[in-house]
Amino acid sequence: MKHIFFILLFGLVLGCSSEITPKPESTSTPKIEPSTISTVVFNNIKNEPPFVGTVFLSPDILTYSDPSSFEILVKINDEQREMYDRRYGWINIKPFLFQAEFSDGLIIEVQVNPEFETKEIAEDIALQYLSAVGQLPTYLREDVDTIWLHKGFENFGGGNNNLLIHHGKGLEYIEQEILEEIFLHEATHTSLDSDHLSSSEWITAQEYDDQYISNYARDNPEREDLAETFPLCFALKYKSSVLSEEVIQTIKETIPNRLKYCDVVFFDGSGY
Ligand SMILES: [Zn+2]
Repeated sequence: MKHIFFILLFGLVLGCSSEITPKPESTSTPKIEPSTISTVVFNNIKNEPPFVGTVFLSPDILTYSDPSSFEILVKINDEQREMYDRRYGWINIKPFLFQAEFSDGLIIEVQVNPEFETKEIAEDIALQYLSAVGQLPTYLREDVDTIWLHKGFENFGGGNNNLLIHHGKGLEYIEQEILEEIFLHEATHTSLDSDHLSSSEWITAQEYDDQYISNYARDNPEREDLAETFPLCFALKYKSSVLSEEVIQTIKETIPNRLKYCDVVFFDGSGY
């Protein structure tokens, strides 16, 4: 795979050096901007990236009707766990514990904050998210060992081998039909960032594109570029019918080298 990609970029690599030094994953504090959904897709400001934030581009990249690999949520014994909660930081509590099982053999421990009062309520809330998690391809769930589920309207998060959910915000995402797109973004942090965000091939692709797909990627390139970009690679590959021709052309013109990286490294290399 990598070999093919090197060949594709061979003519571009010479003379190129990276200036980006990605931060360690532990410093990742993924936040989605803007915090309120905007119906404005294009930025419309000269010399700015074409989009503000890519999770808002289309609610139909994944929808509830797409197949899900989620199978069953099993109650397990509650034990003490360290969790991150955007309202309080790192906390050590005894959450309601479950094990979510998926048809591809992957398992996620779901840790639900005891503020949800009973294990039955916790189970009901967790089940509102797991179908969407199961819609993510296996390689996006591969490094997701745990889910943290809290109340609150704080942003979701990725990294830490985890998906962070704040239920108040989650209900907004469900209402806006972008829950699946948010998970595409956050699971990219969790499962793809460590191997790809600082890879020389990705950085080379960034440099040759010489622009960012969104303000959020441009303003946080060492943390958000892949998470902002990968969902659009996925959309162009599998769901291009939900994007307008104008959006498709804009993506292709803005990040052609990153699209090529996605196609060769994540997909079948057959092009878009
Ligand atoms: Zn992010």
